[in-house]
Order: sequence, then structure tokens, then C-alpha cells
Amino acid sequence: MGCLRQRLEKRKAMTSEVLYESIEKMCGAYEMIERSELAQSILGRSIPLLRVGNGERKVLYVGAHHGMEWLTSVLLLDFLDELCDAYISKRETVGLLPDFILKSRTLLFVPMLNPDGVDLAIEGSAAGGILAERQMRMNGGSTDFSHWQANARGVDLNHNYAHGFLEYKQIERELGIEGGAPTRYSGECSESEPESAAIANLLRTVMPHAVYTFHTQGEEIYCASMKNERILSMGRTLSALSGYRLCRAEGPAAYGGLTDYAVEELAIPAFTLECGKGKNPLPLSDLILIYANLRRMLFYSTII
Ligand SMILES: [Zn+2]
Repeated sequence: MGCLRQRLEKRKAMTSEVLYESIEKMCGAYEMIERSELAQSILGRSIPLLRVGNGERKVLYVGAHHGMEWLTSVLLLDFLDELCDAYISKRETVGLLPDFILKSRTLLFVPMLNPDGVDLAIEGSAAGGILAERQMRMNGGSTDFSHWQANARGVDLNHNYAHGFLEYKQIERELGIEGGAPTRYSGECSESEPESAAIANLLRTVMPHAVYTFHTQGEEIYCASMKNERILSMGRTLSALSGYRLCRAEGPAAYGGLTDYAVEELAIPAFTLECGKGKNPLPLSDLILIYANLRRMLFYSTII
């Protein structure tokens, strides 16, 4: 694998700053990447949107809904990196010609939807800005933010979408969650947060052919609908290509997420990929194996 970023920099945890530097280098190396800003986070950090290809059909990849799952941002940049590198060198990869992919598809990447949560999980309270004190309270007074999942105001973005939101409110009460928290608080209303509102709006505007959201961990693919034959067949293909188990999200994870919103409200095929296996947060050293296991699936996910 000829990943430019791996050649150019010593790997380190992907804070928002490291993400921006990596994107800067990639855009310098691959002129076909178009870069814009999807939105800004609660604390004003940029949420980059990258675009490659000119095809009619659009495919969206979203990483790091959850702060401590920043490994998914590295994974998505690695995939984009390998795709662009293969395109430039006209190299067939896992049986696919990158030229074909980028002529027939437009790929959209939001590698880090929750930069505030990621920076909190990696850097701790120092990344909390004006909300640092409040975050410390939400974190039970602990200075250890390594398991932080939510955004800067303690809203779990993947419970903040409109489908299943009201049902989740009931579950939330049963879990004893009454306000901002490191994980599982869904917010005052759906799409209350700039991060979730921006991605939901992107979905409604672009109406992509497929949406893939990346989380850790479990080596599972959550299929929002086990009844829709087309979505199920796509899910089976993804599962066969990765060895990950295809299943329906269960428990609290099944409510208020982006993929359920995409499938149930917008009829867009959408999948949640729980990458890797182990105890969150997965170490960066797991990425080589995760990428190796998912590489074929990532490339084929563009065209199925
Ligand atoms: Zn997650």
C-alpha cells in the first residue's frame, strides 16, 4: 500500500489539528480532492468535507461521530489516500479501476464529524475551551476524558437524529441520563447540534446513493432495515467482503442514529460499520489490521 500519509508522517493520534494537517498534505498531493467546510463545531472547530470523482451517483462516508472513535477518521483518510494514489498511478486495486470509480461516482468524505469530542478524548480538558468546567461536571469530576463520546456540550450526536428520537428519550430516562453526559444523552431536540444538523442537511440536499458511518468496535455491520431487499443485499455484500457480521443494532444503539434516519426517513441505503475488535478506545496500532480487513469492502462500497 503506497499511502502518502504513512510515508510522510509518523503516525499519531488524530486530533482535529492532525486531521487538518493530513488533509492539507493530501490536497497538495492529489489535486482531484475538492475540500470545503461542512460546518463548524460548537467550539468553532472546522468539520471538513472532501469530495472526489465526477459521477452522477454520490456516496457518503462519515467518521468520528463519537469522540473516542477517532481511529475511524484515520481509516477514512487512509482509504481516500490509497484510492487517489491508485488513480494517479492508474493501478488496479482489489480488482477495481480507480478511474472507473471516480468517473461513475462522486465520493463525499466527512472524516471527523465531531472534532470537539475527538480533541477532548485525546487531549482531555485542555481541549474543552469555554466549556471545560461544564464538561468536567458532565464527566463526573474526572479529568480522564479518554472515553468521551459526545460533542462539546455532552450531546451524543448519534442519538440526535429525528428517527427514533422520541422513543429514545424514554430509554434515556430509564438509563438515568438527564442532561449532558460523556455518552448517550440525545439532546433537547433532534438535530439540536451544529454537527448533526449539518450532516442531516447534507443528506437531504445531496440524497446520496449510499451512506456509510464508521464507529468502533465489534466487527459488525448494522443494517437499519432487515426488510428492504436492496439494502439487505448491499449489507450481505459488505459483510462478505469484510468478514464482519451483518446484524440489526439492538438496545439503545438502535435509536436516533444517522443510518436509521437515512434509511427510514429518506429511503437512502445506510450502514453503520463497527470497525475492529477490542476495548474502546482502540489503539492506533490496531489500524493496520482493521484497514487490511476492510480494504476490499471500502473499495467495493463505492460501487455497490
Ligand atoms: Zn460510535
